[in-house]
Amino acid sequence: MSFLDRFLIISVVLLASVFPVELFPNTGPVPRGGDGQFSGKQGQVLVVTIPDLKEAASVKGRFMGRTVTLFPNPTAGATGYIGLLGIDLQDEPGSHELAVDAQLGEQTRHFSYQVLVVKEKFAVEHLKLPKEKVDLDEKATARWKAEQEQVRKALAEESAMRLWQTGFIEPVHGKRTGIFGSVRVMNGQPRNPHNGEDIGAPAGTDVMASNDGVVRLVVDHIFSGRGIFVDHGLGLYSMYFHLSETLVNEGDLVKAGQVIGKVGATGRATGPHLHWGMKVNGARVNPYALLELPFPQSRPAAHPVLASPSTPSQEEATPAAAGGDGR
Ligand SMILES: [Zn+2]
Repeated sequence: MSFLDRFLIISVVLLASVFPVELFPNTGPVPRGGDGQFSGKQGQVLVVTIPDLKEAASVKGRFMGRTVTLFPNPTAGATGYIGLLGIDLQDEPGSHELAVDAQLGEQTRHFSYQVLVVKEKFAVEHLKLPKEKVDLDEKATARWKAEQEQVRKALAEESAMRLWQTGFIEPVHGKRTGIFGSVRVMNGQPRNPHNGEDIGAPAGTDVMASNDGVVRLVVDHIFSGRGIFVDHGLGLYSMYFHLSETLVNEGDLVKAGQVIGKVGATGRATGPHLHWGMKVNGARVNPYALLELPFPQSRPAAHPVLASPSTPSQEEATPAAAGGDGR
């Protein structure tokens, strides 16, 4: 034990005796990370649980500048609160704090967790695309920026209600290419990492909503082509790009498994496929992580889970066959 450690322990003991905890019911000192630890790789989704918490007015966590809203555990018979903590594919590896505040009437309870972000080995993907699709001219750049802003605005506010049910589904039955997070080199230039999964399927194949939610945006964008953004509540969004057809309108309520569009190759795509993306509290996560959440199936029989959780694909991406894109 170092001198500093001894000093800190002695200081804490001294402070505790000088300032009894009872005097400060709302600000009980919590050692950083003292309530538990979680760890996960970049792009994964962690389930944070606070089992002994009951009937709080609001439970909010902060992690790497993002807000994580916790909610009553949806599992039948379970108590306490849980939250989905998305680790962005570019979050810095290392130890970070998840600080949670629970409002209980007049009181605030604080929790502090240590989250270890583990580096994921993403593939490097080389794509060759027509020059004009990679190097945007001024007009195209302006359009792209406006589209980015449109998406940012639409997704800035999270629905205060959890609309999703336990049990996410794969939106298309096709060939998962396993290129989530891959570093993309387009015509020799490094670009943003691939922030979703591509599922190869023939043009016209049904695309289903991965879970219940409300359609927040229906777009026809320069990179993502015809796309749908579904808001599942509490900061969870799913995205479906390159569609040949969209079958829903903004504001529509959708159910898990409902056909919302058709596979296509619109936008920056080299062939028909679905680009499926998921955002959890602003973090770009591997959408397949949502299929692997450890919730027992509580969905009624009317909404069967069509896809079994798949094991992560280790195979190299084959962009020529599966189609590449810019998102
Ligand atoms: Zn894609």
